[in-house]
Amino acid sequence: MATSETSLIIVGGGITGLCLAVAAQAKGLKVQVIARDNTGETASGIAAGMIAPALEGLLEFEPEVAYARLHRAQQAWVDLMEVWPADVRAALEKTRGEAHSRYVWYQSDNLSDITTPRLKAMGVPFAALTDEQLKGIAGDMDGVEVAGDWLLSGQAVLESLKAHVLGHGGELVTAPVAAVSATTVTLATGEVLAAGHVAVAAGFGARALASSVPSLGVLEPVKGHLLDLPGQGGQGVVRWAGGYLADHVAMAKFGATMQFGQDDLAIEPEVVADLKARATGMMPSVDLSGATPKTGVRASTPDSWPLIGRDATGVYVAVGMRRNGYVFAPYAARLLLALIAGEAPDADAALYDPNRF
Ligand SMILES: Cc1cc2nc3c(=O)[nH]c(=O)nc-3n(C[C@H](O)[C@H](O)[C@H](O)COP(=O)(O)OP(=O)(O)OC[C@H]3O[C@@H](n4cnc5c(N)ncnc54)[C@H](O)[C@@H]3O)c2cc1C
Repeated sequence: MATSETSLIIVGGGITGLCLAVAAQAKGLKVQVIARDNTGETASGIAAGMIAPALEGLLEFEPEVAYARLHRAQQAWVDLMEVWPADVRAALEKTRGEAHSRYVWYQSDNLSDITTPRLKAMGVPFAALTDEQLKGIAGDMDGVEVAGDWLLSGQAVLESLKAHVLGHGGELVTAPVAAVSATTVTLATGEVLAAGHVAVAAGFGARALASSVPSLGVLEPVKGHLLDLPGQGGQGVVRWAGGYLADHVAMAKFGATMQFGQDDLAIEPEVVADLKARATGMMPSVDLSGATPKTGVRASTPDSWPLIGRDATGVYVAVGMRRNGYVFAPYAARLLLALIAGEAPDADAALYDPNRF
């Protein structure tokens, strides 16, 4: 392994680590990605693949602030367009050209009185759903179509990014990491790898590295269950306060729970039963045959926003993406690469300073 300033070891092979690896290669860095799990077992591997500033912002405490941040982060996918593999570029172009997010609510909840002023304040274009668009959704629900949210197949993107890393001289290593410093990574076996720079993009797994990177000590787990389903006709995203269907044509996902403080991957039968009930509550005709429950652990922070930047030890970190790893990964890559290059980061960088707590 080269140890010159032009090499980077990334701990973590989820969406954050892989976006960073591909973007780093485009900047001429030699990368090595170290991950202890198969991609399919990571939070990134099971995620629904929504890149959804509007519907995520809508559900936050301060919707306008949250939407603006998420929307700016989302734009990094486009700003870095030339670095992505061709099939990821094509998927991005396709999803950007489609309006496919619907937000629905029970008429009895009168949520249009809350939702529409919020969307207006956020500056998100939306339109009331037509009868045609409400087909398949519970008869006593109403809703809006929302512009600007995207949907990607996470698994396909991850596989493509991995192939790109390997095809451009990068290394993917399967191994647990025990400790890191600004220029070294110590594997659980005791082997020490050296590089010009080290970045931790290890999701909630990063919490275990807090003894060598103190800023990671604030991470908290949020377990999530979702259901992998057969495709439901390519409906895109249908979301309500109780869950979402993310329908990718070939397959679909219904999710997701937010189980704060839990970091295990056990499938909980009562949670699965509740998810199924919620799915049929929103879409009575949803096909739950062959529904396969999956779990993942998100990493969260005290203010619910990621840690992206340089820890006091000199280690770069990109963690704490909570529900929005697919929104933030390219943004995090761009920010870390600017810091590594000694360039001025963008105006949002201070919001994500890992040393802010
Ligand atoms: C049910 C569910 C649905 C979701 N849906 C969405 C969605 O639609 N849109 C969205 O934006 N986000 C979604 N999320 C959130 C999203 O999955 C996460 O924000 C994102 O996956 C975080 O990616 P990551 O690469 O930072 O971490 P992870 O995907 O958790 O990857 C961590 C990586 O680090 C490695 N690692 C950890 N510790 C070590 C160690 N000690 N040594 C070596 N390797 C290590 C792991 O093996 C893995 O490769 C969802 C999450 C869940 C649980």
